[in-house]
Order: sequence, then C-alpha cells, then structure tokens
Amino acid sequence: RVVTHDLAHRFPGTDVLFEHLDFTAEPGQTIAVCGPSGCGKSTLLSILAGWEKPYRGSVERIGIRRIGWVFQNPYGVAGRTALDHVAFPLLAKGMRRRDAETEALDAMNLFDLGYAADRRFGDLSGGEAQRLMLARAVCSRPDLLLVDEPTAQLDTRTAHSVSHVLGNLAGQGMIVLVATHDPDTRDACGRVLDLADYAPREGEDVDADAATADGQRWHGPRWFRK
Ligand code: ATP
Ligand code: MG
Repeated sequence: RVVTHDLAHRFPGTDVLFEHLDFTAEPGQTIAVCGPSGCGKSTLLSILAGWEKPYRGSVERIGIRRIGWVFQNPYGVAGRTALDHVAFPLLAKGMRRRDAETEALDAMNLFDLGYAADRRFGDLSGGEAQRLMLARAVCSRPDLLLVDEPTAQLDTRTAHSVSHVLGNLAGQGMIVLVATHDPDTRDACGRVLDLADYAPREGEDVDADAATADGQRWHGPRWFRK
C-alpha cells in the first residue's frame, strides 16, 4: 500500500501545487493522476517514489520493495536492439539469456511491440520507444509502477490499447499510478486522483502550521517560506 498523510508541495519561490492530499493506493489498483499542465502530477509521482521530499506531510510505502518508473521521455542506447533493452535488466539479475529473452518478448507483446524486437533503439518511433519503456518496467515486476504521460506520443488507436493494458496491469497485484491528460487513459484506470481537487483554496496558508509528519517544523532556507 501507499498512503499519503496531509501531503502538500511547493518548490522554492513557487505557489503551492497541492495540499491536504490524503489517499491510499492499494495493490490491484490503477490510478490516473489528472489535472492541468503544471499542477504537479510528475512532482507527485517523484514524491511517492521517495525522490522528492514533500514540503509538508509524508508518504508511507508498505510492502513496496521495487518501484518502476516510466518517464515522459524514453531513453535508451541507439545501437542496441529493442529486445536487448528489455532483456538487459533480467540478465543483470542473473537470468539465463533464453529465459530473459522469452520474458522480454512476452512483455513487448503485451504492448504490441513484438514486431520491433530486433530493431535498433535509435530506429524506433517515439511511440514505439515509449511502449518499450513500459515493457521494460513491467518486466522488472515492480510493486509500485509510476508512469508519466504514457500516451503523449501515441496515435489514438495505440493510445487506447496502451491505456487498456495499463488499466489491467494492476490485476497482477501491482499499484499503478499514471499521470495523464488523456481522457481515454483516465477512463481505462479504475480510479482517478484529480489534483485540481487539492489545489490550494483561497485564503488558506500552507505555511500556517508547516510541520512534517515526523513532527518537525520545516527547516528549509528562509526564502523558501513566504
Ligand atoms: P505536465 O502535465 O505539463 O507534465 P505536471 O502536472 O506534471 O505538468 P510538474 O512537472 O509536476 O507538473 O510541475 C509542477 C510545477 O512545478 C510546474 O510549474 C513546474 O515548472 C514546477 N517545478 C517542477 N520542478 C521544479 C523544481 N525543481 N523547481 C522549481 N519548480 C519546479
Ligand atoms: Mg508532468
């Protein structure tokens, strides 16, 4: 499970992005994180992963050993094949090449990418590279999978199929959070977390009782405070 306690965040010198965010994500759920550009979707994913320290509140990760990330921009090694990209982490874990490649190909097929297994990463289209990143993340069997804008570079039909796969991944006991603008992706997810619901309200001051969940006051630089 992932539980947030009165989470609020702002960057130095910026307005509060969201506040009073209390939610629990259970294994088996795919949750769409929605809201307008710049509202803090990607930031929330980083906070849930533990990469970014929240301005206020805390995140509890219970029974989460492995976290998978799929970034907004795919990255890889231009000269290596698509299959290599997915198989490599499995080989690194000590799996035999044949098994690793079979498993990698299964994951690629999940995203209709089997046909591109032997293509060089550098030759893949943007959407293919993005689906490759999804296949790789799924292969590592994370307990928590964080996906940032998975359909931004896809045509409507492919986006629909990727949304559908993401919506069903949680069935394997994962927690999947998907930051997205795409209404189709949102609909494919079992649950929606709309950050617009946690935008700061008029007249409220997140600093008023700024304290982290461990009871300590915020000790950031002065200019961090209003
Ligand atoms: P999009 O839909 O465009 O991807 P988003 O909801 O994912 O947007 P974030 O990337 O979380 O938005 O960024 C939220 C806001 O915080 C933006 O205004 C961004 O410019 C700002 N921001 C992000 N990282 C930092 C940082 N390290 N320092 C200062 N401001 C930042
Ligand atoms: Mg983003």
